Amino acid sequence: MKAPAFDYLRPSSLDDAIKLLGAHPDAKLIAGGQSLLASLNLRLSQPSHLIDIGRLAELRGISVNGGVLRIGALTRHAETMASPEIAAHAPLLTQAIHHVAHAAIRSRGTFGGSLANADPAAELPACVLALNATLVARGPSGERRITADDFFTGLFETALAPDEILIAIDIPVATPDGVHGFQELARRSGDYAIVGLAAAGKRSGTHLSELRLGWFSVGTKATLAPKAAAALIGPAASLARASEMLAEDLEPHDDLQASGATRMSLARVLLKRVITAMEVAA
Ligand SMILES: Cc1cc2nc3c(=O)[nH]c(=O)nc-3n(C[C@H](O)[C@H](O)[C@H](O)COP(=O)(O)OP(=O)(O)OC[C@H]3O[C@@H](n4cnc5c(N)ncnc54)[C@H](O)[C@@H]3O)c2cc1C
Repeated sequence: MKAPAFDYLRPSSLDDAIKLLGAHPDAKLIAGGQSLLASLNLRLSQPSHLIDIGRLAELRGISVNGGVLRIGALTRHAETMASPEIAAHAPLLTQAIHHVAHAAIRSRGTFGGSLANADPAAELPACVLALNATLVARGPSGERRITADDFFTGLFETALAPDEILIAIDIPVATPDGVHGFQELARRSGDYAIVGLAAAGKRSGTHLSELRLGWFSVGTKATLAPKAAAALIGPAASLARASEMLAEDLEPHDDLQASGATRMSLARVLLKRVITAMEVAA
């Protein structure tokens, strides 16, 4: 199918983009276009206007300041993959980004686009949950900071207001006691995962002192598993107990790829792999 007719607008500043978004309530932002164009071609979305934010310098750049790694919303997946700052300060992302689609898509798709799209099977939403990130949005009344925990509200739904643009992602930099892990099961390399886990935490001696488990492709949105994570903290950590607790944390869905029961079983396999690779007592 072909995309429906739309008008194309290319603002030259972030302020102009926000004004255009306010003036055209049926408009859609386009960043890398790697999810949006497919949804237009399938007529899942019929916006009156496309507002192309792809050239806005204010949404670009990767920097480190005061213990925070800032990733501009327009950072392409290929740039995330190649960034020495991200490798040093958020190595979980460097590991995870290899699993996002294929090289051609990674050369156009953006960090902010992936988060704003909120696909429950996407890797980056689960990563920003695990990394306890804060998402920075700008709208007509200024900037708003939204924790990753509050950002993903449902299937392809976020806490962004219709007239807000995601401008950057702030991530606390990894510390020397930091640990991370990433695992996904997909039919083929580059496919969306059947189940996936992004984890980040801190180690104290032989055990974990902090842990956040961000799951994807298990339910309608990227989801934390706080009860399973709590069972893995401290000297009394137990992988068996954490595995049980996943049943309380997750609501895996059925689809053509796998039943909810299969997903739960696979989630337990991934949890074991990630924790084992961290080489902590559990
Ligand atoms: C064949 C194929 C395979 C793929 N496989 C994977 C995969 O395995 N894992 C994965 O995670 N993704 C996958 N993707 C999706 C890809 O990673 C997209 O790049 C990403 O999801 C969206 O980024 P984008 O910049 O292209 O966003 P766009 O397509 O431009 O936009 C997506 C949505 O986000 C909104 N948006 C974009 N930027 C902003 C912003 N700054 N503020 C507010 N709203 C914004 C748009 O309005 C739109 O609704 C795949 C895509 C394709 C075509």
